[in-house]
Amino acid sequence: MKYLKYSLRFVLLSMLILTACADGDDSGLEQEQEEVKTGATFDTSNILAKFEGTGLSYAINGNTVTFTTADLPNHTSPYWDASNPLYEVYNGNNDNWNKNPGSIGAQNIVFTITLNPEEATIKQATSLGPIGISRNGVVFFNQYAAGNSPLAGEINSFDQWLGHPAMTTYHYHIEPTYLTDQFGDDAFLGLLSDGFPVYGPFENGEIITNADLDIYHGHTSVTPDFPNGIYHYHVTSQDPYINGNGYFGTPGNISR
Ligand SMILES: [Zn+2]
Ligand SMILES: [Zn+2]
Repeated sequence: MKYLKYSLRFVLLSMLILTACADGDDSGLEQEQEEVKTGATFDTSNILAKFEGTGLSYAINGNTVTFTTADLPNHTSPYWDASNPLYEVYNGNNDNWNKNPGSIGAQNIVFTITLNPEEATIKQATSLGPIGISRNGVVFFNQYAAGNSPLAGEINSFDQWLGHPAMTTYHYHIEPTYLTDQFGDDAFLGLLSDGFPVYGPFENGEIITNADLDIYHGHTSVTPDFPNGIYHYHVTSQDPYINGNGYFGTPGNISR
């Protein structure tokens, strides 16, 4: 009986693997890949030179980097004070655009992030507020609004570059289109606080969908910045957009 059980499990597993190979688009099966541990430690120090923004600086200390950011977008927005040269009325294509009561204000947010990220044994959920830093110093937020409710309503307050403020803290929940316009749809966009990079919605000329990614919203492959391959997140056009079920690695410290 024991043997029979084992064989049955083996047959089911084989079927699963065969089906997975035959149909790479099934998200349920893709999630099985979570079992595959990369076990690798990466080095992201070569990516730091890409960080450049208003009120953004970083310092390397051993195998960690400390970013200090004022969290000010280097692009236009209707959330700037009208006297700011970057103030621009909403000119995006959302007919339901609805400005929220917030505005862009300088923050003092400090991220301490490892330069040698590796997969965490126990994955931690992201929390509301900053979860990472984009290459222009604006912070990334996760896929939830206050109270961990879906973004649905908030999306209508995203400006023409798809960011918006919470009180005075400007942030991106979804693709920062100013950055993908400037650097390309397949470009490096920033780091989550676990030290793993975030890339745009394309790779090798192909659009990436949630089905291509694991439950944390990433995968391991070669990128132009990491020719030996690295685990990385991708922004996609569908929820959860940047990160899925938490950090793949161990999040660093975020203070504000
Ligand atoms: Zn928000
Ligand atoms: Zn990728």
